[in-house]
Amino acid sequence: MSKVLLVEDEPAIADTLIYALETECFSVTHALTGSDALAAAAGHPHDFAILDIGLPDMTGLEVCKKLRETSSIPVLFLTARDGEVDRILGLELGGDDYVTKPFSPREIVARVRAILRRGHHAPSATDASSRPLGQGIHGLLHETSSMRIHFDGSPLDLTAHEYKLLLVLMEKPGRVFTRDQLLDHAWQDPGAVTDRTVDAHIKSIRAKLRSAKPGAENLIETRRGLGYSLQAAC
Ligand code: CA
Repeated sequence: MSKVLLVEDEPAIADTLIYALETECFSVTHALTGSDALAAAAGHPHDFAILDIGLPDMTGLEVCKKLRETSSIPVLFLTARDGEVDRILGLELGGDDYVTKPFSPREIVARVRAILRRGHHAPSATDASSRPLGQGIHGLLHETSSMRIHFDGSPLDLTAHEYKLLLVLMEKPGRVFTRDQLLDHAWQDPGAVTDRTVDAHIKSIRAKLRSAKPGAENLIETRRGLGYSLQAAC
C-alpha cells in the first residue's frame, strides 16, 4: 500500500482527497501545516507527497525544499492561482506535477498513480529500508532468490510449510483456497496430513504476522466452510 503525505489546510478539500485516495487503497497521513508535515515525514517514510502551496505557516514550496533535503519523494503540488504555477516551474524544486484548484479528486488519484508508475525517483535511504523488494501486497513481499517472505520490511520467520502456504495465498489475493488445495500446494505428500494441519499452520502464520504488526493477522481471511484467502488487493 503506497503511503501518501497530504498537506492541505482546508478541511473540506483534505477530506475529499483522503476519501478518494483511501478508496483507491492509498494510506494517507494528513497534515494541516508545513511543520506538521515535516514532522510526519521525519517519523515515517512516505511514497508520495501532495502539497498545497498556500499553508498557514510556510508555503508548500518550502515544505518540498525541506523534504528534498533528505529524500527524493515525488511531489504533486496543489495550487490556487496560476501565478503559483510560475513559481513552481521557476524554482525547479523538482516537483513532479501540479494541479490547479478546483480539481476533481479522481484527477489527483490518477496523477499520483501515473507518477508512481513512472517510478523515476531514486528511493531514499529510509525508503530503501522499508521497501527492500519493490511493491508487494499489504506489505508482504516475496524474495524469490532467498525464498523468504518479508512483511513491512522485515523477513518473516516461517517454516517451509508456512512459507509455501502464504506464498500460495499471496499469488492470488482475494481468491479462496480450500484446505485440500492448500494441502496440494504446500505438502509433497498431502495424503499424510489432515485439514487440521492446514488450520494449525494458518494459525501460526497469523501469529507471526500479528507479532510483526498487530492486526495483520486479519490479512488472512477465513471463509467459513470454504477455506482461506489473502485479503483482496485494492
Ligand atoms: Ca491552502
